[in-house]
Amino acid sequence: MKEASSVLLIYTGGTIGMRQDPVDGTLKPFDFSQILAEVPELGKFAVKIDVHTFDPLIDSSDVEPSFWQSLVTLIKDRYDRYDGFVVLHGTDTMAYSASALSFMLENLTKPVIFTGSQLPIGIPRTDGKENLVSSVEIAAARDEDGHPMVPEVCIFFDSKLLRGNRSTKVSSDEFRAFRSPGYPSLAEAGINIKYNRQAILRPLSWDSPLKVSTALDTRVSILKIHPGITPQVVRNILCGSETRAVIIETYGSGNALSKEWFLDIVSEASSKGKILVNVTQCLSGTVNMDLYATGKALQKAGVVSGTDITTESALAKLFHLMGVSEDNEWVKKRLGENLKGEISK
Ligand code: ASP
Repeated sequence: MKEASSVLLIYTGGTIGMRQDPVDGTLKPFDFSQILAEVPELGKFAVKIDVHTFDPLIDSSDVEPSFWQSLVTLIKDRYDRYDGFVVLHGTDTMAYSASALSFMLENLTKPVIFTGSQLPIGIPRTDGKENLVSSVEIAAARDEDGHPMVPEVCIFFDSKLLRGNRSTKVSSDEFRAFRSPGYPSLAEAGINIKYNRQAILRPLSWDSPLKVSTALDTRVSILKIHPGITPQVVRNILCGSETRAVIIETYGSGNALSKEWFLDIVSEASSKGKILVNVTQCLSGTVNMDLYATGKALQKAGVVSGTDITTESALAKLFHLMGVSEDNEWVKKRLGENLKGEISK
C-alpha cells in the first residue's frame, strides 16, 4: 500500500484567517492555529497535515525580505519530512512572495503552493475553504512515478493553479484575484484537478538536495513612466546614490518619452553603473526595444529588456541576483536568462 502524503500548512496571516475587530470594524489577523478544526473537510483526505503558525501573524502588506528568509529557512528545515507545502498568505503581496521564493529555493523538487482568500474563512460565502482544500490536494499529488505532480512555487486561487513568478494580483474584490497573463495555468480544479503537464517545470534531477539562497540586496527602485513626469522625479529615482537597480515601467512594448532630458538622465544613470530594466506596464505582452525608435533609444542608453517578466518577479529576481553577486554586468546578463520559468525564452 502506498504511504499517505504529508503536507505542511504554513499559516502566515492574511484575510483568510482574519476577524473583524469589534471596536473599529477593521479586519485583523487572529490566531487561527486550529485551522484543521475550522476546515473539517481537510480531515477527509488521506493526507497527513501538520500546521506551522508564524509569530507574529501579519497582514501581507507588512511582508519584508526578512519574512521570505524565515519562510525559506522553515521550508528547508522541514523539507525532508513533507511531500509538499501550502503557505496561507495575504493576497496583497502574494505574487511578490511567490516570486521571491521561486528564486530563493534552488533544486526545488516539491510543491510550494501559496493560497489565501478574499473573504475570511469564518464567513459563510468564503472562498478560503475551496482554495485551501484544493491547495492541499495539489501539494500532496504525485504522478505515476511517485514524484510530486507540481514541483514549483505556485499560487492557487479561484480554481486555477498559476506559476508564482508569472502571477499578479488583478482584483481587490473578485474571487478571481490573480492572473498569469504571460503563461498558461498549471492546473485547473473542476470535478477533478486537471494538470497541464507540458506547462509544469520538472527539475533536472530529483535527487539534488534543496539549496536556499537567502542573500537579498534590496537596493531597487521602480520608476513608472507617465505623461507629465518631470526631470526631477526621474533624476531622483534613477540616479539616487542608494539605488543599485531601477525597474522602469514603460508603455506598451517598452516605450518611454523620447525627450532629450529623459534619455540624458537614463544614460547618466547607466554610465554610473546602475542596472536599468525595462518592464511593460501592460498586463500582457513583451518588451521589444527594437520595435519603436523610443524603445531603441532606451536600449542605446543602456537599459536591458525584462521581456515579459512581471514587475513583482523583476523585483524578486533583482533582489536575488544582486544578493548573489556584486557584479552588475553579471546581474544584467542573468536578467535576460530564464531562471525559473519567469520569462518566455
Ligand atoms: N490585506 C490582506 C493581506 O494581504 C488582504 C488579503 O489577504 O486578501 O494580508
